Amino acid sequence: MSEHAVVIAGGGPTGMMLAAELTLAGTNVLIVERRPSFKLESSRSRGLHSRTIEVLDQRGVVDRFLAEGKAMQVQAFAGVPMDISDFPTRHNYGMALLQSHFERIMSGWLDELGVPILREREVTSFAQDDSGVDIALSDGTSLRAQYLVGCDGGRSAVRKAAGIDFAGWDPTTCWIHAEVEMAEQPEFGLRGGGGIGPAEGGRVGVTLIEPDVNRTDEPTLEDLRAALIRVDGTDHGVHSPRFISRFTDMTRQAVAYRSGRVLVAGDAAHVHPPMGGQGLNIGVQDSVNLGWKLAQVVKGTSPVSLLDTYQAERRPVGARVLQNTMAQRALGATDERTGALRNFLAELLTMDQPRKHIAGMISGLDVHYDLGEGHPMLGLRMPDLDLATANGPVRVFELLHNAKPVLLNFGDAGALDITAWAERVQLVNASYAGPWELPVLGEVSAPSAVLVRPDGHVAWVGEGRDAGLRDALTTWFGPDQRSGLKISSTRKGARVGRSEMGYLSSATASTSLTDCNPMRRTRNRMSSTPCSTRAARSFIAGRKRADAAVTATPADEIARILRERETRSTPESTLDPIHNSDPARDGDRDSGRSIQPRDPASRDVSAASGGRTIEPITEEDF
Ligand SMILES: Cc1cc2nc3c(=O)[nH]c(=O)nc-3n(C[C@H](O)[C@H](O)[C@H](O)COP(=O)(O)OP(=O)(O)OC[C@H]3O[C@@H](n4cnc5c(N)ncnc54)[C@H](O)[C@@H]3O)c2cc1C
Repeated sequence: MSEHAVVIAGGGPTGMMLAAELTLAGTNVLIVERRPSFKLESSRSRGLHSRTIEVLDQRGVVDRFLAEGKAMQVQAFAGVPMDISDFPTRHNYGMALLQSHFERIMSGWLDELGVPILREREVTSFAQDDSGVDIALSDGTSLRAQYLVGCDGGRSAVRKAAGIDFAGWDPTTCWIHAEVEMAEQPEFGLRGGGGIGPAEGGRVGVTLIEPDVNRTDEPTLEDLRAALIRVDGTDHGVHSPRFISRFTDMTRQAVAYRSGRVLVAGDAAHVHPPMGGQGLNIGVQDSVNLGWKLAQVVKGTSPVSLLDTYQAERRPVGARVLQNTMAQRALGATDERTGALRNFLAELLTMDQPRKHIAGMISGLDVHYDLGEGHPMLGLRMPDLDLATANGPVRVFELLHNAKPVLLNFGDAGALDITAWAERVQLVNASYAGPWELPVLGEVSAPSAVLVRPDGHVAWVGEGRDAGLRDALTTWFGPDQRSGLKISSTRKGARVGRSEMGYLSSATASTSLTDCNPMRRTRNRMSSTPCSTRAARSFIAGRKRADAAVTATPADEIARILRERETRSTPESTLDPIHNSDPARDGDRDSGRSIQPRDPASRDVSAASGGRTIEPITEEDF
């Protein structure tokens, strides 16, 4: 039986990013992937948001993505485009790049890093004990690992086998989605709750609402014909499908991101409608948050409790995306009242503060982990400043290429002593004369030092003294290495204890998650209104803080919401034909499909942002 520190089930975007992060941190990792190659039939995601571009820059690989993608203003909320070219980041844009290309480029990077991938095999089950996990594969063989991470998509076998509930909202609408050839040229445009548009290779992409939300059988060419006839009165001589699938607007999130030695990330942890183009992006960012922590735990430099911060930090981010996609879904209704609401929203988004708030959220630039009180930068992403050092100029992101934490000292050289962490943390004496400006937040006071985690988030800020630095170093990078303390990650002979199973404990779940739950708050105010509408209202109401607005929901609370929920209204909603998915039904998405993009040149949203009257769900996704 082959043994690994970490086995990753699923080599999609999330699994590949996690494998890269673990490898950079020197961890023995293996990916098990069902597909025979990295090739993806469909395009699925249309591209990357600014923060994902930044994390690729942090690892020194962004150029290979930029070389193939197209930098554009792609952020939109409920069809209202938002320009972020005034955001203080080097990457003040998104990138149009099909998921198939993203995965190919990632796969090339993994080859360079030497990450082993076991293809054409599935993780079918596992059994965890005190020291590791036995993992059964579809070919009858098995593996042993200290940790197993399910990056195996919306239908995650790992999540299910771990007994982690996937709580949330049932679908209200089902779409049939296909890429086909047609004997006659249809008119391209939005209709039938979706639309018809050009696809790669001269094919035609079709996305249309189906009348029965509960269909679970495989869609056929006959189903597609019926949908076309319902909408256009003809099937346009449809034939030779490249793929046909169904998806819904199901919205769900894992109630826990860890169960002992098993974790979930990406679509395995959260699924939602595709509005805003966020799924792949937050999956990749889950991995960047988890990778270095897991590496430290398996190496024994940090206690297993460090893994608890993965859920504490990433689950609220996922919960917030669920909320914003439900809100966008509700705003997609085609009735005149919802149209009026969209116009009202579009008007608000012409104003700087609402635009920055929402665009910061969609682009992922405003993610703020709750690391306690302190300087406003604490928990935020570190900006990619141009630093001057004794060795010449360097960008902050360049210092993160090796995925190692860095302490930037802007005070006197020698003012900060981290000898006890010297092997784990880089110390760079630098100067920076420019403004300290952050997306959404604006300018903040210049710190005297900043401790930056491998994921690029600020773990400690010095304000003239080193108060709290040792604690921060210990919390994030393990105890003083001179103490000789080595933390066992196996604890042979011990039973899996509460701290390791902690996230399955309802006590743990309910402590951190409930109080500022926007769903609950909003439900109390508007209990007779459908969830998605409530979500939309709470966004329009301009909820103040992203991090206050996004908090995880314990399973029992979600169950209660579902029990209480009134009869769902199903808006005659229109889905952007180039941007849709149902991870739950289309779970692992490897048969995921999407109609090909409009001509990128015609998608300059900054040019389009002047218009204030918006069509249902016409977000400039990619
Ligand atoms: C039509 C469509 C449009 C989309 N548009 C966007 C967009 O514009 N922007 C965006 O950010 N996101 C978008 N998404 C979402 C995005 O595609 C997903 O969020 C992303 O693919 C999630 O990546 P993942 O690695 O978590 O999961 P997946 O991509 O689903 O990868 C899971 C992998 O696990 C493998 N697997 C499954 N089960 C097992 C098993 N038991 N053992 C081993 N391997 C297994 C699968 O073969 C697959 O390769 C879209 C999705 C669709 C379908």
